[in-house]
Parts: sequence; structure tokens; C-alpha cells
Amino acid sequence: MKFEELNLAPALLKAVLEQGYETPTPIQAQAIPAVLAGHDLLAGAQTGTGKTAAFTLPMLHRLSQSAAPKNKFGGKGIRALVLTPTRELAAQVEESVREYGKYLDINSTVVFGGVGMNPQIDRIKRGVDILVATPGRLLDLQQQGFLDLSTVQVLVLDEADRMLDMGFIHDVKKVLALVPKDKQSLLFSATFSDEIRELANTLLKSPQSIQV
Ligand code: AMP
Repeated sequence: MKFEELNLAPALLKAVLEQGYETPTPIQAQAIPAVLAGHDLLAGAQTGTGKTAAFTLPMLHRLSQSAAPKNKFGGKGIRALVLTPTRELAAQVEESVREYGKYLDINSTVVFGGVGMNPQIDRIKRGVDILVATPGRLLDLQQQGFLDLSTVQVLVLDEADRMLDMGFIHDVKKVLALVPKDKQSLLFSATFSDEIRELANTLLKSPQSIQV
């Protein structure tokens, strides 16, 4: 299969081909059509399989076709939220979003703990389409009134198993209560414990399952 066959927006295809990627990885070949079609997704994939592009590319494509809402500060409201267990992963995912989305009018930012909150607050106020976050800092920002998650259309839980291993289950559940019920949800995990399955059952609606 070729990237050209995936029906991604030309601006995305251009960015992907510039990366030097020749063919979609197995997770990309399966996840991209499913996400473009609007399905929820339950994906079993280790890091190194190309899972980041598997959710980032179709997410960018879908956002490029819908209008941005406003946040209460007059900037763009958040349409996609990606939760990751660690700051390193959050930063990597956001860098991929930037790279693949560079020819689209879609912006992103990353928030995580251990650094000052004010620059993150300023950035959110100015308007963000795609927010990549670790759960604790996300909730801090929300509780302080700077973050409105009611406009989220796509939610991604990346490395959900690590998120639970790190004790974030309560935070993740709090976040799930803050996003609309009617949204597209994608859950990526390397392993599937009972706890992950329960989370998947709560979150996902008739998901397509992919295992690579
Ligand atoms: P990930 O599993 O998302 O952490 O990606 C692992 C690595 O594979 C990253 O360095 C990506 O840049 C690279 N990659 C992702 N998709 C492809 C592809 N289709 N062809 C070649 N490399 C890729």
C-alpha cells in the first residue's frame, strides 16, 4: 500500500512524503482509514510501530475539514486532546503533530507538569486546535478555569497501559467526564489488562480493533 491510497489531504501527504516515509506501517494502514471514517479505535501497538502517525495523520485530516470553535478568551477552542503518560512522550507527540500539520492551518501545544504554568495559560488563551497533555497538569489548568474541554471532538489516549501503571486512572476518568460524550475516541496500548479493557468499554463506542 502507498500513502497516496489513504485519501489524506494533499497538505498532509506532502508533509509525510517529505519525512521520507515510503509506505504506511501496518498500524497506519489499518488505523488511518478507520479514523478517517469516524470510527472509535482500540489499537494494540508498541512504540516504534509508527503509532503516532497512525492517529496524528487522520486526526489532522478530520480537523482540517471542520471549523474551529472559539474559547472564552476569543482564541480557537480545543478540538483534539491527546493524553500521554509522560512529558517526554507528550513533547514527542506534539512535535509529530507540528511536523505533519505544517502545511495546514491547525496549531497545537503541549502541557505537562514540572514547569511554569503561565506560558501554558497564555498559549491556551491565544487558541489551540490540538492539545497534547499529561493528565495532572491538564486537570490543574482546567480546575483553574483556563481550559474548556467541552469543544473536544477527538480524544486520544496514548500508551494507556503506562498511564494506568503510573497511577493516572483517576485523573483519566476525571478528564473523560470533562469532554463531550459525543466525540471520536482512540485508545492505544501495548498491553491489555482487565483495567484497560474496562476503560476501553467505558470510553469506546463500537470500536474497530487493531492489533499489530
Ligand atoms: P512511533 O511508533 O510513532 O514512535 O514511530 C516510530 C518511528 O517510526 C518514528 O521515528 C517515525 O518517524 C517513524 N515512522 C513512522 N511512520 C513511518 C513510516 N510509514 N515509514 C517510515 N518510518 C516511519
